[in-house]
Amino acid sequence: LIDLLIAHAAELVTCRTGPRGAIGPGLAQLEVIADGAVAIDRGRIVEVGPTRQLARRHHARRVLQVRGRLVSPGLVDPHSHLIFAGTRHEEWEDRVLGRAIPPGRLTGIRYTVARTRRASAAVLRAQALADLDTMLAHGTTTVEVKSGYGLDRDTELRLLRVAASLRHPVCTVLTYLGAHVVPTEYLDRRDAYVDLVIDTMPEARRHAEYCDLCCDPNCFTTDECRRMAKAALALGYRLRVHADQNGPVGAAELAAELGASSADHLDHVSPAGMRAMARRGTVGVLVPGVTHHLMEMTPRPDGRRLLPAQSPFWPRLVRRMIAAGIRLALAADYNPGSSPTQSMQAVMQLAARLYRLGYAETWHMSTINAAWALDRGEDRGSLEAGKRADVVVWTVPEHGMVINRFGVNLVDIVMKDGRVVVERGVPV
Ligand SMILES: [Zn+2]
Repeated sequence: LIDLLIAHAAELVTCRTGPRGAIGPGLAQLEVIADGAVAIDRGRIVEVGPTRQLARRHHARRVLQVRGRLVSPGLVDPHSHLIFAGTRHEEWEDRVLGRAIPPGRLTGIRYTVARTRRASAAVLRAQALADLDTMLAHGTTTVEVKSGYGLDRDTELRLLRVAASLRHPVCTVLTYLGAHVVPTEYLDRRDAYVDLVIDTMPEARRHAEYCDLCCDPNCFTTDECRRMAKAALALGYRLRVHADQNGPVGAAELAAELGASSADHLDHVSPAGMRAMARRGTVGVLVPGVTHHLMEMTPRPDGRRLLPAQSPFWPRLVRRMIAAGIRLALAADYNPGSSPTQSMQAVMQLAARLYRLGYAETWHMSTINAAWALDRGEDRGSLEAGKRADVVVWTVPEHGMVINRFGVNLVDIVMKDGRVVVERGVPV
C-alpha cells in the first residue's frame, strides 16, 4: 500500500538522464511517457511508468486522476537574489526610453543596497515569503537564495538570517554573496572590502552552504576572487561564480579551477573557459531573464547593441557551450534590476526564444541540470524512483505547450515531498 498514485497523465516528462545530468546530444533527448503515472510513498517517488503497469503493481490510499494534463518534475531555480528591498522599475523605464539618468541618483545594485540596509528583517521576510509563494505557484519547488544587497557585515548577516528563517514549502538553498560589487564607501580601498568579505565568512557559514563571487569587469578581479575563494573553501563552503557577465575576464576558467558548483551568466565566456568547465563538470547557469530585460542595453563583444533575437550572438554562444560538453541550466536570477521575475516558466519561454533552444533542452535545463547546479541531482530534478516527490501537474497536455505559450501561468497542481501545496495555480 502506497500513499498516492498520480494516474493517466496525458504526457509524463521524467527528465531522467545519465548519472551527471543532460550533456551534449543528451540534452535534446527527453523521456516522455504517454498515459503516465507516478507512484509516491512517504514523500518519495516509488516508481514512474505507464499507468497501465503502475496501477497493476501498486495499491494507493489515494489516486489523483490527471487526464488531459502534463506531469513534470518540480522546477529548480539555481540562482536568485530573493532578499532585498528597493525595486528599480523607475530606472528601467529611463533606460528603455533612452532618457539620461539624473546626475547623483543612485542606480543599479548600489541603489538596492541603500534601500536594503534600511529595511527591517520583518519587511524583508514578508516580501520573501510572498515571492516564494509566486515561485511555487509557477512551478518552482527548489530555489537558491543569495545575500548580496547588504555589502556590510551586519546587513549581509541579517539577510542570511532572514533567508534561514523562511518557513515555506519551496526548498531554499542559501548562498553568501558578500562579493557582489564593491560598495561605494570602499571604492578607493578595494582590499579592505575583500578583507571584510573574508572576515564575515565564518559567521555567514552558519547559514550559507555556498559562497558566491562576482568575477566580472564591474565587480571583482580574478585575483581578488581567488583570495576570497581560498578562504571560503577553508571554511567548508562550496562555491558559485557570477562569471564573465560584462566582459571576458577568465571567470569561467577560475570557476572550473576552484571546483565551483556553477558558473553563472557567461555572456563573455572564452573558449578556454568552456573547455575548463566541461572538463571539471562546472554547471553553466544561463539567465535569459537578464538577456530579455536588458536586451539592446547589453553590449555585444564588438560594442554594438542589437536585439539578441535578431542577432546570432546568443544562440551561437549557447550552441558552442552545448557542443563543448558543458552541463547547462537555467535560472530566473530573480532580482530587482536585471531580471525582475520569479517565474521559471517565463524563463523557459525566454530561453527557447532568445537562445533558440528546443523544448527538450529547455526542460532538462530547468529541472535535472538545475538540480545538479545545486549539487542535488541525486535527490531531485527528475521523476524517478527514490527521489523527492516534487511534481507539477500542468493545465496543458503536452510539454512543448508550457514553453510555446507565454505570459500566463500554466500550473495546475504542485506537490512538494508528496504533499499538495498548490491547487488550481494557487498555493494552499
Ligand atoms: Zn546574480
